[in-house]
Amino acid sequence: MSASIYIDDLKPIVPQNLAVERPLVIAGPCSAETEEQLLETARQLSANGIKIFRAGIWKPRTKPGSFEGVGEKGLAWLNRVKEETGMLVATEVATRQHVEEALKARIDILWIGARTVSNPFSVQEIADTLAGSDVPVLIKNPLNPDLELWIGAIERIYNAGIRRIGVIHRGFSSYEKQIYRNPPHWHIPIELRLRIPSLTVLCDPSHMGGKQSLVAPLCQEAMDLGYDGLMIEAHCNPAAAWSDREQQVTAETLTHILHTLVIRETTEATETLSELRRQLDQLDEELLNILSQRMSISREIGRYKKEHNMKILQAQRYDEMLNKRIAQAIELGMDGNFMKSIIQAIHEESVRQQIDIVNRS
Ligand code: PEP
Ligand code: MN
Repeated sequence: MSASIYIDDLKPIVPQNLAVERPLVIAGPCSAETEEQLLETARQLSANGIKIFRAGIWKPRTKPGSFEGVGEKGLAWLNRVKEETGMLVATEVATRQHVEEALKARIDILWIGARTVSNPFSVQEIADTLAGSDVPVLIKNPLNPDLELWIGAIERIYNAGIRRIGVIHRGFSSYEKQIYRNPPHWHIPIELRLRIPSLTVLCDPSHMGGKQSLVAPLCQEAMDLGYDGLMIEAHCNPAAAWSDREQQVTAETLTHILHTLVIRETTEATETLSELRRQLDQLDEELLNILSQRMSISREIGRYKKEHNMKILQAQRYDEMLNKRIAQAIELGMDGNFMKSIIQAIHEESVRQQIDIVNRS
């Protein structure tokens, strides 16, 4: 069991007037390239109503030789964006030096990238450097689909005294890149939100999809799942971008995407929905009862096996039973793998109960 701390006192990441309605939007280029590119992109976004601007100045790239960001001088450019447009500005930090320089330059929001979140030493170094400040921090999911590692990073930043913490779901690395650059595994952020309800949860459809055409559908999916906001890469000339060219959109496209989003506020349960939920609850009760009856029979079998000195696991019977249930499930319109994991879990608990009986003196 992990000894997770309980986090229930997080604050909104930005002043309430910037987040009156879902989605809270952070937009801007993958990288700050030149002062002109940064200011031009910022002007276009600001003219389209964007209030929070992003740009990476220290870029963690997969291969050496790629553009690794303009570094510290980009902080001054971000400050010009702030002065000219009034937008809040956000950038990525990965080391002690990045945090010190970004705090000194009074950058409004910091985010920790997926590669950095995957390394607890780096996250701890960032947390130690942040101690005593109250800057909002956004924590991307780690590269690997590991919820505990993600929560661990949140805990390290929380322990440094930061309370304006949000997360950015940007998908998880995988060898296969058929549809998404980083497959979403939506259930992971959904569980995270259940574990830490006060977290602000954003989706980054740009790194998740890896291409312009996937930005809109992923934004819609995030909204339907109740996410608070979106971090989207936008560039004044995406085709000429120095990094992540395929996934960046123009300010115009971004505006179109945001205007066509359907925001369904689903907190008000209608009569029908409550009734259906009541029925689900009742079926869950029944499932629990049936499982408990099944376990008493397993224990009965355990006693029999003990008396007759039989071994607990009879592999052939288990295989036959498993295959039969998978076939039945498929016939009933359920996924075979889903049934496989259910039967495996039930069987594992039955075996545990029988071992308990057999070993009892
Ligand atoms: C980015 O936001 O530009 C970035 C590098 O993202 P990630 O850490 O999600 O790969
Ligand atoms: Mn990028």
